[in-house]
Amino acid sequence: MMDAPLQVARILEHGSTVHGTAEVVTWTGAEPRRTSYAEVGRDAARLAHALHDELGVTGDERVATFMWNNAEHLVAYFAVPSMGAVLHTLNIRLFPDQVTYIANHAQDRVVIVDSTLIPLLAKAIGGMTTLRHVVVVGGGDPAPLLAAAGGGLTVHRWDELLAGRPDHYDWPAVDERDAAALCYTSGTTGNPKGVAYSHRSLYLHSLQICMPEGFGLGPTDRELAIVPMFHAMSWGLPYAAFLSGAALIMPDRFLQAAPIAEMIATERPTLAGAVPTIWNDLLAHLDSHDVDTSSLKEAIVGGSACPPALMHAFSERHGIEVVHAWGMTEMSPLGSVSRPPAGATGDDAWRYRYTQGRVPAGVQARIVGPLGEPLPADGTSVGELEVRGPWVTATYVGDDAPDEEKFRDGWLRTGDVGTLSPDGFITLTDRAKDVIKSGGEWISSVELENALMAHPDVVEACVVGVPDERWGERPLATVVLREGAEVGVEELREFLAGTVARWQLPERWAVIDAVPKTSVGKFDKKVVRSRYADGGLA
Ligand code: ADP
Repeated sequence: MMDAPLQVARILEHGSTVHGTAEVVTWTGAEPRRTSYAEVGRDAARLAHALHDELGVTGDERVATFMWNNAEHLVAYFAVPSMGAVLHTLNIRLFPDQVTYIANHAQDRVVIVDSTLIPLLAKAIGGMTTLRHVVVVGGGDPAPLLAAAGGGLTVHRWDELLAGRPDHYDWPAVDERDAAALCYTSGTTGNPKGVAYSHRSLYLHSLQICMPEGFGLGPTDRELAIVPMFHAMSWGLPYAAFLSGAALIMPDRFLQAAPIAEMIATERPTLAGAVPTIWNDLLAHLDSHDVDTSSLKEAIVGGSACPPALMHAFSERHGIEVVHAWGMTEMSPLGSVSRPPAGATGDDAWRYRYTQGRVPAGVQARIVGPLGEPLPADGTSVGELEVRGPWVTATYVGDDAPDEEKFRDGWLRTGDVGTLSPDGFITLTDRAKDVIKSGGEWISSVELENALMAHPDVVEACVVGVPDERWGERPLATVVLREGAEVGVEELREFLAGTVARWQLPERWAVIDAVPKTSVGKFDKKVVRSRYADGGLA
């Protein structure tokens, strides 16, 4: 067979020719901007020429983005890897000093920024030692960037930089194992860690996203890519769209429930992907507004455990099927998707849908005990989940050897605890660091949260372990109640007692306005622990 390298440029060429008329819609708050995959291809060539000819980007130099999900970000997603350089998606929601740390660690030379994000980038740019060029998309005033950087920086305007450049680029052949893109974990503990995706891993991962057992994308689909392009490559949706011809709807900075609902009603997506918090907000909106969601067949939910109550609510009240998926930045990020096997119907099908899903070909999974000993994949043995495969990282960027805490014998230690069934379904009970260890027994914080969120008056519930003299640790439940709800803690305890063992019931409770979230919208348990551990009602 021919040895044809799997490279991002091939995805770009395919999408921009075979699916050249497919559209990218960027939300603006007014009339959406529309462009085609063919035009994205031409702009990618123009950007690559500009980066190479004018900004001097060569080899595997890093070009960062500090952007929302929009057409220009998509152009950068293709241009940078296709020309052989490395795309680094900076997470705009990290603390400024973390953004600075990451940009220096990756040795970013260029950053492309949405003009609406100039004030945010200005807070981080001062300490970026390798940065030489900023490309501003949109009309904002770049003065704060120049002032904060204090010299050594050239600012360019996207439109001027691309204007008049050739709309074709001879994409170089690359080694498919070369880095194409870089993404850092959100660093809930310690500094963020970098994961480098290769051309080959991005290509294979994108194919898997398109598979029926993945997200099942095809040319008649329209994807609403809510999950940020600065977090885990937007779950691979941009590249998968170019492979499959599915249209892309990009929310830019309009991530609140009302504009998302409007995008669904007017742009008619068939599929959308986001973390549970976004879906939870959208559900509340849909419950109280008349929105036409009839185009949306599937809502992919991942990033944190999806409460079964959320799945039922979407399915029963709005006819939208929630598909639960699990993954990690380290896995590009797709790990598993919960599609019931053939023949499963009714409650049986629902039981499968609650799980984190089935591992696809390309991901091997195993459960290990406390000493790293493999446990049977019998659906009942509980241990840490380990994975390996062609889109799973083997180490973190800049590490001389795989970090022993995260890698073992060629497997990635996910830090997630759960079971694996003989037919490959993963059920996660918790993150290892969030399991509550009470008197030698384990309590799953996620199980308590899911049970609480099934109460009609509970909007969000976040459960953490807090120190306890007698038991070592006990659960503390923080709950956000529906507006106007008058349910008391005693009633919630009794409600919980209907599904979980009595000894697991939390003694400490706090009714709060909102659960603190991480930079990517997950419950921030570290903050919850420190903020409410002493404040709970005994
Ligand atoms: P971060 O570690 O910064 O949150 P990631 O997005 O890489 O960034 O997080 C991966 C982790 O998110 C997984 O290891 C797992 O703990 C959690 N996660 C992702 N999807 C799910 C899911 N469907 N159910 C439970 N946990 C999930």
